[in-house]
Amino acid sequence: MDSSSSPSVNIDEADDLLDINLIIHMKSLISLMKQTLCSECNCLWDGSPSIKTRNGLYMHVEFVCSNCGCITHLYSSPQVRDGRRREINARLELGATLCGLGYHGIIKLLGALNLPPPTQQQKYSETQEVILNYVEKCQEQSMIAAVEEAIAETGGARELTVSGDGAWLTRGHTSVHGVSALCSTTKRPKFLDTTWSSKKCIKCQGSSGGMEKEMIHEMFCRSLAKYNTRYVSYVGDGDAKVHKYLVDNPPYPDIDIKKLEDTNHFAKRMLNRIMKIKRENKNKILSDGKRFSGKGRMTDGHVIKFKIYFAKAIRENKTDLNKLYQSSWAIFNHHYSTNEEPMHDWCDPKWCKYLQAESLGQSFSCSKISIPRACLDMIKPVFEELCSHTSLARVVDGGTQNANEAYHSLLWTMIPKHRYCSSKILRTGLGLSTIIFNEGYEALNKIFTSIFLSMGYYSTQCLRKLDVLRSSRTSKTKNKHLKRAKTTTTVAASTASTESDEFPYTPNEENYDSIVNDITLELNDIALELSDDDITDVYEAGGDD
Ligand SMILES: [Zn+2]
Ligand SMILES: [Zn+2]
Ligand SMILES: [Zn+2]
Repeated sequence: MDSSSSPSVNIDEADDLLDINLIIHMKSLISLMKQTLCSECNCLWDGSPSIKTRNGLYMHVEFVCSNCGCITHLYSSPQVRDGRRREINARLELGATLCGLGYHGIIKLLGALNLPPPTQQQKYSETQEVILNYVEKCQEQSMIAAVEEAIAETGGARELTVSGDGAWLTRGHTSVHGVSALCSTTKRPKFLDTTWSSKKCIKCQGSSGGMEKEMIHEMFCRSLAKYNTRYVSYVGDGDAKVHKYLVDNPPYPDIDIKKLEDTNHFAKRMLNRIMKIKRENKNKILSDGKRFSGKGRMTDGHVIKFKIYFAKAIRENKTDLNKLYQSSWAIFNHHYSTNEEPMHDWCDPKWCKYLQAESLGQSFSCSKISIPRACLDMIKPVFEELCSHTSLARVVDGGTQNANEAYHSLLWTMIPKHRYCSSKILRTGLGLSTIIFNEGYEALNKIFTSIFLSMGYYSTQCLRKLDVLRSSRTSKTKNKHLKRAKTTTTVAASTASTESDEFPYTPNEENYDSIVNDITLELNDIALELSDDDITDVYEAGGDD
């Protein structure tokens, strides 16, 4: 048994089943040794192991032959590339950050497993620094690729629309970390830049309100140096402070940064405004002598569907103002149609039953799809306001902040909001979230292979599995949303006798299966989710109305 040198791992054997870690009870090792012959005296080995060195999870164990005194060495884990730490300990730290485990959390986990505690905090912190260095390098590459992808998709001009958002982590009065990220608004949004900031305490040192706009401004200012690219339009939430700051402190002297609406937020206004009109005129007798709501009138289901159709119209026509105008008004006109006066000119034969029947030479009664004109006349001002060329121009080329929200929830799995974290961990979390969001878990193999000697068989397997779980959760969310949307339609149908049109409100339903793995589904779909919030919380914080 000659194992006097450290075990070495061949980089080319990433898929090698031998490149794995095992957790073995010490007694199993002793019983294994007792079945072998000593390489010196050739007797059946007998003796006891002694732990020469232990460093976190790493151990150097000596097995001394009680017959001849010969020593067999076991080095439980190889050294990483920089030669100053053992691979198993660096993997533990990377894994802990991926799970959002702090130093104490790791001790709990290792304790439960009857494994030794992690390395001393000083050493632990040094390793974090090394990991951070590799993570940030990988993050930069991922963001450069995302910038180039967005530029290619928008036709090659080095001018992009970005959506931005910031978030805060606070813990008592001791510290505040702020993070901000900019995301592309392409079909498959990706993160282009992230930044962070620390303050001792907002309550003691003033508001955090300024930090978000400053962080976003900082990322705009470095876009030319970093990517030779300008961010010419900004998609923000209802809060206009960030855009105002970008206008007052222009990052590029020759460019006025355009403010674009968050398209979901914008579409939601249709719901809010119509619901408000319905509520305010609940008991009013309309021009046709009947009330607003009720059987055969305009139901809440109609209103929700109007919002969904409007969001869909924006999503599908966001590069063409004229088409957007027509498909927005098609929602109104389609339902305003009567047999005497059909108004389906701007409808799409993909969903309009009237046009479908017409193309087959069949007759179709508009009463199947119409909503009483007296009701629609009441809500026409909403369309006139939201679907004017001027209003719609604010969502042309726009995007949503869905990606920013999804990014933050990924980040919080690594940087739990309730736990104090160092800026090193914060930056590592930002980097890992960016890489995972942009490219998936498997892209972490770049970090693994640069820090460790090899990827490792089970690391490959596990990251692959995480990507599969991630996309299956995406499709489940998708299905759940579809079901919820359909349920609502059924409810609406049972309360409205005229309800029989099948306005499709699922994006790309025809090629649903082929794109089910695409995270954009999850993102797009948020717009289609009929949450309770859509129905009950008519007034948003910040107030649209
Ligand atoms: Zn011996
Ligand atoms: Zn304080
Ligand atoms: Zn129509």
